[in-house]
Amino acid sequence: MSGFADLTVELDSLRQQGLYRTRKLLTSPQGAVVEVNGKQALNFCSNDYLGLANHPEVVRAFQRAVNQWGVGSGAAHLVCGHTAEHHQLEEELAAFTGRDRALLFSTGYMANIGAIAALLGRNDAVFEDKLNHASLLDGGLLTRAKFNRYRHADAEHVRQLLAEDARRKLIVTDGVFSMDGDVAPLKQLLAVAEPQQAWLMVDDAHGLGVLGKTGAGVIEHFGLTSSQVPVLVGTLGKAFGTAGAFVAGSAELIEILIHKARTFVYTTAMPAAIAAATRTSLSLLQQESWRREHLQILIRQFRAGVSQIGLQLMPSISPIQPILVGSSERALFLSEQLLQHGILVSAIRPPTVPKGSARLRVTLSAAHSEAQVQQLLQALEVVWR
Ligand SMILES: *Cc1c(COP(=O)(O)O)cnc(C)c1O
Repeated sequence: MSGFADLTVELDSLRQQGLYRTRKLLTSPQGAVVEVNGKQALNFCSNDYLGLANHPEVVRAFQRAVNQWGVGSGAAHLVCGHTAEHHQLEEELAAFTGRDRALLFSTGYMANIGAIAALLGRNDAVFEDKLNHASLLDGGLLTRAKFNRYRHADAEHVRQLLAEDARRKLIVTDGVFSMDGDVAPLKQLLAVAEPQQAWLMVDDAHGLGVLGKTGAGVIEHFGLTSSQVPVLVGTLGKAFGTAGAFVAGSAELIEILIHKARTFVYTTAMPAAIAAATRTSLSLLQQESWRREHLQILIRQFRAGVSQIGLQLMPSISPIQPILVGSSERALFLSEQLLQHGILVSAIRPPTVPKGSARLRVTLSAAHSEAQVQQLLQALEVVWR
C-alpha cells in the first residue's frame, strides 16, 4: 500500500546492528552539568570546549544585540542581510587568524561544501584524509573534480596521489580529527604539497580557541604561516560556543567565495545577534587564556587516570579523548551505564567512525573541575568491569 514498508525494514536492521540513534532531551542549557531525560548528569560530550555557550557575558551580548537588530537577518549577505555586526565579526576573525579577510557562513557544513566547490571544477583534483569530517568529504564529492581519499594522516600516500595531472590540486584535512582527537600532520602534508603547488585547506573546527598560545588553533600550534595554509575554515558552534562558521584567507580567496560559494550566496545570513555574541566570545577566548591552560590540566589528568584503569586511549592532545571500544553494542551499553551513574558520554558508532571502531567519545571542557573529571574516571572504572 504505502511505499514506506521498506523503511521499517531498514530501521529494524539498524536496531539489530546496534546502530539505531535516538536524541536525548535536554531541559537545561549547556554546561558542565546538564539535565537530560529529566535527570542531572555531568556533561562529557559537548564541543563547548571553553564553556562559553552559556557564559553570562556572551548571553548578555546576544540579548543586547537582539534588542538592537531584532531576530531575523531578513536576507542573504549579498542582498540586504549583511549588518555592521556581521562585518565587524569578519574583520575580527581575520585579525584573530592573521589573514586578510574572513567570510561568515551559516554553518560549518555549508562553509566546507561551499568553499571546496567554489575552488574546484572539472579539471581539478581534491585529496582528502579518509577520516575527514562528513562535510569535507561531501564537499569533495559534490565538485566535478577528481576525488581522492588518502590513508589517515599519511602524507606519503598523498605524495603518490599528487603525481596525477590536474589544473588545481587541493589537499583537505581536519585540523583536529573530530572523532579521534589527533592533530593532522600539517608539516608533512606541506612538504608534499609544495613541490606540486597543491593548496592546503584546513578545517580547524576543534582546534580554534583550544590549541596554540593565543587559541588561534592548529596553524599556530605548528607555527605555520597563512600562505602555507591558504584556506582556513573555522566553526563557531564549538569552542566559540555560538553558531555558524567562517573561511579565512587572502582577499582574492574571499572574493571568489563571495561570488561562487553557493552555500554563501543562496542562503539567509545568520542573525546579527549571533554575530554579536560571537564577537564577545572571541574576545573572552583571546583574553582568558586560563581556559586553555585549565583544559590542558584536565586533559593530562584524564589521560593519566584512564591509563591507570587500563583502557585504550587514542593519541590526542585535544579535548577530544575517545576510548576505543570496538563493538557498537558494547559502546552503547557502556554509554547507557555511564548515564545511570550520572555521566553523559556519547557512543560513537559507524558510519560516523569505521566499522569495528565504535568508541566512547569523551570531551573535556574548561567548565569542568578536576573533581568532576575524577568522578568520570571513577564511573568509567566501575562500568568497564
Ligand atoms: C562540527 C564540524 C563541522 C560542521 O560545523 P557545523 O557548524 O556544526 O555545521 C565541520 N567540520 C568539522 C571538523 C566539525 O567537527
